This record gives sequence, structure tokens and C-alpha cells, in this order.
Amino acid sequence: MNQLTQSLERQGSSRLAFLSSGLASARSFVAAWAPIPLRLIVGYGFMEHGFAKLSKGPEAFAAILLAMGVPAPHLMAWLTILTELIGGLAVLLGALVPLVSVPMAVVLFVAMLTVHLPYGFSSIKLLSVMSGHAQFGPPGYELDLLYLACLAALVLGGSGPMAIDHYLGKKWRSRSWNRTGCGIRPERWPSSIETRCSCELNSATPAKRSPEKRVMENKTPKRILIVGAGFAGLTVARELERRLGRDPSVEITLINRENFFLFTPMLHEVAASDLDLTTIVNPVRKMLRRVNFLAGEVEQIDLEQKSVLVSHGFDHHPHALKFDFLVFGLGSITNTYGLPGVQEHALTMKSLGDAMQVRNHLIAHLEEADSDCCEKIESLLTFVVAGGGFAGVETVAGINDFVRRALRSYPHLSEDMVRVILIHSGPVILPELEKSLGVYAQKILAGRKVEIRLKTKIESFSGGAVRLADGTTILTNTLVWTAGTSPNPLLETIPCAKEGGRLLVTEFLELQGWPGVWALGDCSAIPDRLTGRFHPPTAQHALRQGKIAAHNIIASIRGTEKKRFDFSTIAQLATIGRRTGVANILGINFSGFVAWWLWRTIYLFKLPRFEKKLRVALDWTLDLIFSKDLVQFLDIRASAVSRPEAHPSPESKTLQPELSEPVPLGTDFNLGLDKFPQGLRLCTSK
Ligand SMILES: Cc1cc2nc3c(=O)[nH]c(=O)nc-3n(C[C@H](O)[C@H](O)[C@H](O)COP(=O)(O)OP(=O)(O)OC[C@H]3O[C@@H](n4cnc5c(N)ncnc54)[C@H](O)[C@@H]3O)c2cc1C
Repeated sequence: MNQLTQSLERQGSSRLAFLSSGLASARSFVAAWAPIPLRLIVGYGFMEHGFAKLSKGPEAFAAILLAMGVPAPHLMAWLTILTELIGGLAVLLGALVPLVSVPMAVVLFVAMLTVHLPYGFSSIKLLSVMSGHAQFGPPGYELDLLYLACLAALVLGGSGPMAIDHYLGKKWRSRSWNRTGCGIRPERWPSSIETRCSCELNSATPAKRSPEKRVMENKTPKRILIVGAGFAGLTVARELERRLGRDPSVEITLINRENFFLFTPMLHEVAASDLDLTTIVNPVRKMLRRVNFLAGEVEQIDLEQKSVLVSHGFDHHPHALKFDFLVFGLGSITNTYGLPGVQEHALTMKSLGDAMQVRNHLIAHLEEADSDCCEKIESLLTFVVAGGGFAGVETVAGINDFVRRALRSYPHLSEDMVRVILIHSGPVILPELEKSLGVYAQKILAGRKVEIRLKTKIESFSGGAVRLADGTTILTNTLVWTAGTSPNPLLETIPCAKEGGRLLVTEFLELQGWPGVWALGDCSAIPDRLTGRFHPPTAQHALRQGKIAAHNIIASIRGTEKKRFDFSTIAQLATIGRRTGVANILGINFSGFVAWWLWRTIYLFKLPRFEKKLRVALDWTLDLIFSKDLVQFLDIRASAVSRPEAHPSPESKTLQPELSEPVPLGTDFNLGLDKFPQGLRLCTSK
């Protein structure tokens, strides 16, 4: 009897929990999408009023404003009409493009308070137009108040994935953040973390919660862990954020080594000083609002235990993060194939730091070569790039343009002193494109004095000379290695099927034999059903894989149908220096200025966030007017001393040397020339 009662109670409470959770899901769904119809109503209402005044009686409206004593009635009439039209349109568009509705919502608020409420559109109702004259009815503030309420709801309450609070939300939330002892915002810190400050997290004063919310919180959310915030990982995170919004039953966490997303197709532009350092990177936190982000190093992944070990912080302390679903987006690393000296001395082109190093290296070598005491000028001014693929060709073209254009700032250097060499193992560069485009690129580069060595392999690099397989030696301090990639070394420990070290996945991007684990981007091997081979490791593939993976994760949670990844390359584009490029778009070949222009247009469009697009567009425009920037990015601290503070006394004044007196060497005023080693020649101009 007792057992029966308990079982009934259990059934009752589980039904209650089910009902509550259903109610909460419905509520979060409604909250997410409610701003959309609200926008449509408010936007349509404003536009309709604007059109009515415009088409039927702006003059009459102005006359009424005049009669009511409004200053500058014509201006005010047109201002009102334009505000209603543009504001209405912006609120409508805001359903899709949140950014435009933020300033317009503010403008509409202000317009209502300054124009509308005293004399505005609802206080002067347009009733009809009789024999060419507009007739207005008595004032009615109810409509104004309704619109104000709707706008207020959109700004403050609306929580749709495309609503304007998407942008304002962070600010609002930050006010109620409850900080823990370790300075972590509890609601942003994934519950999956088994952390050493978990006691402090737990001891944080619990906020008052509704019983319904408590039921939801007791139900452990599904934990989705994404490792790597490159093209693949970040797309999954953004897509999940967009589609799952504030679904409390899901917790999404993204881990990445850097706190930014790097747009690699423009990396060579940073190396060649075409673009400023930060223009091609986007802070992850500005791209994601509802996904937990952790800047740290993934050290270990245990698929059996469903746990990822991450180290972060100044002391690299570890955290174990549990997951229900895992997404691999760890990309690839540079492979130097064990060639002697290459890994130690060569520069690479994979990360932002690499591009910065190349730029600094080029400038440092020009500075050194320009000085009088320089002896090894040949190796200083010979620049070798290994690899004739996209990255190598774009890099060599960028280096060639940069160095040759920079020469005008170095009076002791001339064009004939500079050598830029591209070494490629194949018969034609850019093997990813059709042969004719590769041949065209070779012709253009050769015309710009780039030496191209085809069917040639590098044997070793000493830091001062590159040795080729044919026995030739090139004296150079600079080797930029773009000739090979290898899967992320972390994958070696993953116990699953692999292809060339990359994780082998199904056409649904799920790891074979590991349901709930996805892999995409450069770290995965995805069979291409059309060609029978594997999809190539490119950004455009990674982006699309991200969307499919996000869909399939949601399908796994909801038990709906998964999607296959089917995609064929749409376009391949490369710049080959000064306003010249090569491209293949939908099977059509382009070359020269058109291809270069397409490259810039397409990649500018693809670069995330408006702010960065604007910065890149500005940099490119300024580049037309000004010469290349030669500033090195250095992290050298300014010198400092640690001396007792000097207390000037009246007598000390008399001790100070007169300005007219010669300053003796060895005091603070000297240039330190006495410290120069004996025999060192001071460089002067040649
Ligand atoms: C110079 C260059 C130019 C390119 N140009 C083009 C182009 O024009 N068009 C094109 O389609 N493709 C281009 N690519 C290729 C493209 O960049 C890659 O295919 C794409 O970046 C793959 O995306 P991904 O997400 O798999 O990896 P990535 O974008 O490399 O991202 C991997 C992320 O994982 C992080 N990560 C790795 N290991 C760890 C760890 N242990 N812990 C924490 N985080 C980690 C990394 O920091 C990185 O953020 C270019 C590549 C390069 C290098």
C-alpha cells in the first residue's frame, strides 16, 4: 500500500515536472519569437501613418502645426513624416537586421516625446481628404501610448534571437550578475565544469528563483562542448546560439586557445603590411552572446568518460569539462616533414602571430641591410617562400610587393639587391586551380621579379641558407614555410577511425562509432559522395559543415531527422599582388583586375562583423593614397630605473650644471657613448 502511494506520488510529481518543463519550453519559445510580430505591427503602424501624411496632406498637416503654434511647422511636418517612414521601416527590418532598429527605436522614442505627444500623428488624426483638403480629427493619445509600450517591450523585454535586445541584452544582464569569489559570472560558467573553485561557485548567494525555474534547473541541461573557434567551431556555436537561443535545457560551451577568431584568407595582407593587425580578427565574445566561452588550451579529450581537460589562466591550471555532445573543430598545424632546420628556423603562415612575425622579420631585415655596417646583404635581402599553393602564392606576392615598395624609404637599397623566390614541388603553381590560371599567375609573378623554381624541393634550412634537393644553395635568412599541413596532434590520442590522421566521420559529420561526437573542418576527413574522395580542407567547406553539424546536434537532442553534408566548392580565389588575381567561380575562370576585385569583394563580404569590414575597407582605401607602413610590432618595454626619490634641496640647485657648461660623460645626460665597446665603428650614411 505504501509502495503504491509512493509510486502514485512519483508519477504525479513526474507529470508535474513534465508539465512545468513543457510550459517553460513553450514560454521560452514564445519569448524568443514574440518580438517579431511586435515589430511587424509597430513598423507597419508607423509606416502607414507616414505614408498617409505624405500622400494626403503634408501641407495641411503643416498648416495645423502652425495653427497649434509649433515652431517651423513645415520642417516639423516633414520631420514627422520622415521619422515615421524611416523609423517604421527600420523597426520592420529590425526583425531581421537587429542593428538598424537600435538607433531607430531611440529616434522614434525621441520623436514621440518631442513631436508626437503634444501635436503628433495620433493627437491629430487624419480622418479623410475632402475636395483636396485633409481633415483631421480630435487628439487621441492612446495610439501613441500603445506604440510607446510596444517600443519599450522591444527594447526591454523582447528576447528573440533577432531582437534588438540581442545587442542590449549583455548590458542589462551585467547589472544583475552575481559575482563569485573567483570572479566568475555563475550563469555564464558552464555547469559542466568540475573546477577547483567550484566550492566558491556553489557558495555564491543563490538568487530567488521561481518554483518553475527550479524544476528546470534541477533537470541537468544537455552540455554541448565545442573545441576550437575557427571557421568550423565558431559556425557551430553561432548556429546553435541562433537556433537554440535561450533554451534552458541546453548549455553550449566553446573553448579556444585565443580569445579571437582569425580570418585566415586575409592573413598574408597583415604579413605584407596591407592591413592592420587587428582588422582580420574578431573577439569571440563579441560574436557570441549566449554561448559560454573559455579561452584555454585543450590538453586532453576522453571520449569514454565524456570529459575534456582544459588548462587556462596565468598558471595554466586545469579544468575538466563534462559533455553530452562534443564538436571537434581543432583545425590543422604546419608540417615541416622533418626537414633539417626547417621547423627551428623557418617562419610559418598559420596564425596571427605568424603574420606579425613575417612582417617584423621583413622590416628588421630591410633596416639591417640599409645600415653601413651590414655585411651579409645578400642573405638579408633574399626572401624564400616554400609552397606554391594558395597560401604560398599569396604570401610570396605580398612579400614581393611590400619589400619592393618599401625600398623607397631605404636610401641605400635598390631593387636589384632584392630577391624573392618561390619554391614549388609541382610543375605549375596553384594546383588547386586550372592549369591556365596557374600559368597566368606564374607569368605575372615573374614579370614582377619573383623567381619561381618549379619541380624543386627543399632539403634543409640552416637559418642562413636554404639547400635544395638539386644541390643548389640559396643564401637567405628568410624561409616562409607554407608547404604542408598536418592534423592537430591532439587527434592522435582519439580512439577512432582516421584518414591521414584526420578524424573519419560519416556524411552526418558524426564520428564513426561515437554517437554524439562530431568532427568538422580541417581536423576531419569527410567522404564526398559525389567524387568518392574526401572534402578539401577549406574555410568555405568548414563554414557549411558548421551549419550542418549544428542542425544534426539539434536533431539528436530533439529526435528529428539529420542532414547529410553535401557541398561542392563554389569559388576559389587568390590574389597575386598589386591589383591582380586569379579565380574560378562556379566553373568560370577570371584573371587580372576582375579576379582581384572579386577576391576583395567576396572576402570583405565574408569577413565577420560590420566593424571589421569597415576597418578593412578603410585600410584598403588608405592604401591607395599612402605608402606601406614600416612600423615593427615590438613588445619591448620602455626602460625604467629603480632609484630612491630625489628631494631637491635649496643647495642642490647650485650643484646643477649650468646649461652653457659642457655636460661631462658619465652623467645622466650623456648618450652612453662611453659604454660602446672599443673598436666598434659607428655607422653613418654610406
Ligand atoms: C594563410 C592561409 C590562407 C587561407 N586561405 C583560404 C582561402 O582563401 N579560402 C579558403 O576557403 N580557405 C583558406 N584557408 C584554409 C582555411 O583557413 C581552413 O580550411 C580553415 O581555417 C579550417 O577551419 P577549422 O575551423 O577547421 O580550423 P581553424 O580555422 O584553423 O581553427 C582551429 C581553431 O582551433 C584552435 N585550437 C587548436 N588547437 C587547440 C587546442 N589544443 N586548444 C584550444 N584551441 C585549439 C585554434 O586556435 C583555432 O582557433 C587558408 C589557410 C591559411 C593558413
